[in-house]
Amino acid sequence: MPGFFNAHCHLELGFLRGAIPPSTPFVEWLGQIARRKRAARPEDAQSAIAAGLFELRESGTQALLDIDSMRIAPDLIRAVEMPCLSFTEIIAFDPAEAVARLNETVAWQNAQPALAAGQGFGLSPHAPYTTTPELLATAAQAAREAGQWLCIHAAETPEETEMLLHGRGALHDFLNDFGSLPQGWKHPGMRPVEYLAASGVLGPHTLLAHLNEVTDEEIALLAKTQTRAVVCPGTHVYFGRGAFPLKRLLDAGVATYLGTDSLASNESLSMMREIDLACELEPALEPRRVAALADAQRARDFGLTP
Ligand SMILES: [Zn+2]
Repeated sequence: MPGFFNAHCHLELGFLRGAIPPSTPFVEWLGQIARRKRAARPEDAQSAIAAGLFELRESGTQALLDIDSMRIAPDLIRAVEMPCLSFTEIIAFDPAEAVARLNETVAWQNAQPALAAGQGFGLSPHAPYTTTPELLATAAQAAREAGQWLCIHAAETPEETEMLLHGRGALHDFLNDFGSLPQGWKHPGMRPVEYLAASGVLGPHTLLAHLNEVTDEEIALLAKTQTRAVVCPGTHVYFGRGAFPLKRLLDAGVATYLGTDSLASNESLSMMREIDLACELEPALEPRRVAALADAQRARDFGLTP
C-alpha cells in the first residue's frame, strides 16, 4: 500500500463520528459541534483520538497535520511515531481579548514537553469569522518568529463570504445570537481570502483549508503569495456542497493537498477514499495526479519526514 499524507484532520472530533447527519446545514452543524464539545468528557476525546491514530495508520497514512482545540491530542500524538504538526486552535472574537488569547496559546505550547522527533506545533487562528485582524496578524508574526506553520479555515461556505462581505446572513446571525460577536462588530467588507491578505497572513508558511468559495482573483492572490491549500473531499460530499475548487487551484499553480477533515463531517479517515472522492468531484483531473496530492512524500513540504 502506498503511504499517504493527510493535510487536514481534527482527531479530537472523532467522538462525533456519525453523530450529526450528512447535509445538516453548516451553521446548525457548527452549533451542534460547539454544544457537544462543551458536554464532552476528556476520556471520550482521548479514546477517539487514539482510535483515529490507529485508523490513520491502518489505512496507510504516514504523516499528518492535525488541528487541536481541546489540548488533549498532543499527548497522544507524542506517543505514536507518526510525523505530525499539531496546530493549536485559537478562537477569539473580541479585539480586547484576542492577542492575550494568542499569548496564552504560545505560552501553553512552550510549557509542553517536547513532541516526539519529527513532530511539532503550529498555530491555527480558526477562521476569518472567529478571529480579529489583530489576532491574525499577531499569530502570523508569532509563527514566523517560532518557525511554525499557520493553518486557517477559509472561504468554506457562502455564509462566511456573506458575513464578511455584507455583515449579514445565517452565519452572522448565528454568531450574534450565540453572543459571540462583540458589541459593534463591523464586517470587513471583503471576501475571505482578500481579508486574510489584508491581515498579512498569506505566504508560503500558511495553509488555508477548504477554499470552496474562492474567486479567480483570490486564487491568483494565493498563487502570488505561495500560500498553500488543503481541500477536503469527504467533508465536501457530506455537506452536499457545489463546485469543488481543486482543479482551479492546481491550474493556478497553488500547492494543494488533500485532507479528511474530522469524523464529525466525514465517515472515514482513509486517504484512499479521499482520493477516490476527489476524482469523482474533479473528473477532468488525471487520477494519478490526484493521488500524487496525498502522497506521503508531500509532507516534506511541511518539514515532516514520513
Ligand atoms: Zn478543519
